[in-house]
Amino acid sequence: MGTLPKLTVRLVGPRGFCAGVVRAIDIVERALAKYGAPIYVRHEIVHNKFVVEGLRAKGAIFVKELDEVPDSARVIFSAHGVPKSVPAAAKARDLAYIDATCPLVSKVHKEAERAYAKGQHVILIGHTGHPEVIGTMGQLPKGAVTLVETPVNVAALPMFDGPLTYCTQTTLSLDDTAATIAALQARFPDIEGPKAQDICYATTNRQEAVKQVAQGCDVFLVVGAPNSSNSNRLVEVAKRAGALSAYLIERGHNLPWDALTGALSVGISAGASAPEVLVEEVIAALGTRFDVCLEAVDVKQERVTFNLPKELQ
Ligand code: SF4
Repeated sequence: MGTLPKLTVRLVGPRGFCAGVVRAIDIVERALAKYGAPIYVRHEIVHNKFVVEGLRAKGAIFVKELDEVPDSARVIFSAHGVPKSVPAAAKARDLAYIDATCPLVSKVHKEAERAYAKGQHVILIGHTGHPEVIGTMGQLPKGAVTLVETPVNVAALPMFDGPLTYCTQTTLSLDDTAATIAALQARFPDIEGPKAQDICYATTNRQEAVKQVAQGCDVFLVVGAPNSSNSNRLVEVAKRAGALSAYLIERGHNLPWDALTGALSVGISAGASAPEVLVEEVIAALGTRFDVCLEAVDVKQERVTFNLPKELQ
């Protein structure tokens, strides 16, 4: 060990699993235990290949759409939420389904529905094509929601006849979203918004923690999946906060060794769908080439938990 270069690893907390992800994984595991395999899951239950593979090994079958689920099977909807048409289609086929939508995503769904009931047009701030965005837009009839991603999109919006409200995806960049909301409020001064922001506690805490720790890190590593919105945002936050470089990595074998050459300090965080075992794997991989000195930097404690659906309690 004495011959290995020294490396300080600053392990940022909170990181990794949020309450919505824990609940969604629990739902699949308990459904498997209660009803037996196979249990069908529409879409990745959470955006992490390692988690999905683990559940597949226990008997979960992941499908893209409901029509891949055989009659009389049991199906679970992912934590990202689904358009109203999905449970409606499941009911029409008499499929037993369990909804693992995170309660904080359901909160946004309800906000959109309330606004629509009040006669407001809804502007949703989010990423095109993300399952959560598809789910939220699908709470209302076609044309009732307009999606924007950036202030540039806001500038290109038409003038709307009636009243407006906005809501957002739960896993966005806090800073970018603030800029988009400011652009909306400048363009439509009467626009209403949610009482409490839609970006969830887990996204907020992970971004704020990375912001505090990333400055001064030679390399910042975010453990997470390429399709995980909140993980990608953490990489952006680390770069903006002053890390010399920042990378999203899925596993220990994905470490960017060239960037790590000569590094003295590395920050590590993990997206809300990345299990801690993968963070441990990354630290172990660093230990093969460095004399690692581990420093835990816990910026905030989290105690949020969500109840399971009644049938699985
Ligand atoms: Fe829920 Fe936030 Fe976790 Fe998404 S990131 S599952 S909204 S707690």
